[in-house]
Amino acid sequence: MLIRNASIVDLSQGTVTDDGFCYVDGSTIASVGSGSIGKSHGHGRHGGAFRDNEEIIDADGAYLIPGLVNLHAHTAMAPLRGTAEDVTPEDWFNRHVWIFEKNLTPQDVYWGTLLGALEMLTSGVTCVADHYFHMDHAFRAFQRSGMRANIAQAVFGVGDDTEQKLQDAIAFTEEYHHADPRITVSFGPHSPYLCPPEFLRKIVKEAERIGVRMHTHVSETAKQVAQSIAHNGKTPVAVLKDTGVLRGGSLLAHAYHATDEDMTLIRESGAVVAHCPTTYMRFGDMTDFLPRAQKTGLVLGLGSDGAASNSTMSLFRTARDAALLAKLATGNPEEGSLGSVLPLLTSGGRALGLPNYGEVRPGAPADLVLIRKNTPAMNPGYSVAADLLYAIQEHNVDTVIVDGKIVVKHGRHVSIDHKTVYDKNRELVERIAQHTSDSPMQVFNG
Ligand SMILES: [Zn+2]
Repeated sequence: MLIRNASIVDLSQGTVTDDGFCYVDGSTIASVGSGSIGKSHGHGRHGGAFRDNEEIIDADGAYLIPGLVNLHAHTAMAPLRGTAEDVTPEDWFNRHVWIFEKNLTPQDVYWGTLLGALEMLTSGVTCVADHYFHMDHAFRAFQRSGMRANIAQAVFGVGDDTEQKLQDAIAFTEEYHHADPRITVSFGPHSPYLCPPEFLRKIVKEAERIGVRMHTHVSETAKQVAQSIAHNGKTPVAVLKDTGVLRGGSLLAHAYHATDEDMTLIRESGAVVAHCPTTYMRFGDMTDFLPRAQKTGLVLGLGSDGAASNSTMSLFRTARDAALLAKLATGNPEEGSLGSVLPLLTSGGRALGLPNYGEVRPGAPADLVLIRKNTPAMNPGYSVAADLLYAIQEHNVDTVIVDGKIVVKHGRHVSIDHKTVYDKNRELVERIAQHTSDSPMQVFNG
């Protein structure tokens, strides 16, 4: 596949190469350059074997960027969008989300994941680290969507049937972690506040045995940290260290209230953190996490979290929130700079262990996005970095390529009927909304 006549953007520098071409061989970028080479194809100078029936995409001057990575999501919550607004975290969980989720069927997770995947793909997200239930059904949805994913079956260490659910998660992980090269699997202990230390140790052992990573929530609120100190004599991050969860490759969602010592522990362990600014802002919770984490040298990516606490799965809007939150929390407009936030759109790829992810260069995975410039919001185009962080709208995303295959063209998925997915999700949310008097699946007290 040859993409030509593109403005290739380097997100780490905010620079643009006009009249660029990108030659994709299979699932990898084979060569990148600018000028006439992309136009006069057939000479082999693009570094790959050019075939007669090669697919050629004329980008018509659109920006070409690497695919975005959503480092923490509950994709199947897409149908819960708008179900828990203007409430405290306690009410969000106990009176809304955990009641709805108790009534979700495995089939609902399939359709919810498909809706979330469609939303991500059509907004330029090519890869997600997903954490939810019934992940065999999420797996099918991600497979169907063409999206790249790391999926974790969430497990609680308190409540009913914890041992059975842990066994189910182990069975799921063993069965699926080599099932599709595009979809990897992690263990998903929910959090230190819902998984006692012994339970976490068991999971660490299983993760080591099977050879997979772990993906958990930690220190999302100040109350969680205070309660952990009261009960365990240490912070939630220190509990993760004690139990072995904190290690190279482990993915921590939030760590938003991590202390300076916690941050040092995280950096030294090689664990990575997904920052989900929209969720914190919704709960009226402002901290200077991002500037502190970046100064400490943490490996970071951005997460949308679920649609019930963000409303959108678009990483562009999440990145905008990250920059604005950093400025607001520090009272310093120089924080949350373009150069510090823009690379976070794709840094989740390397955080997930995908080599060369987030770059348009030879050897990188062919996960690519074409952004239309011919809309009012993207003009006059004085600063591509500022436009991509602050001005872009999702309808600017035109073409999305994952693993060398076109999955979105002119803003629509190439093989999924959008309307069917919308109808299924409408039906399911109306059905589960009839159960609002039920008790929640867990009790949140953090
Ligand atoms: Zn989460």
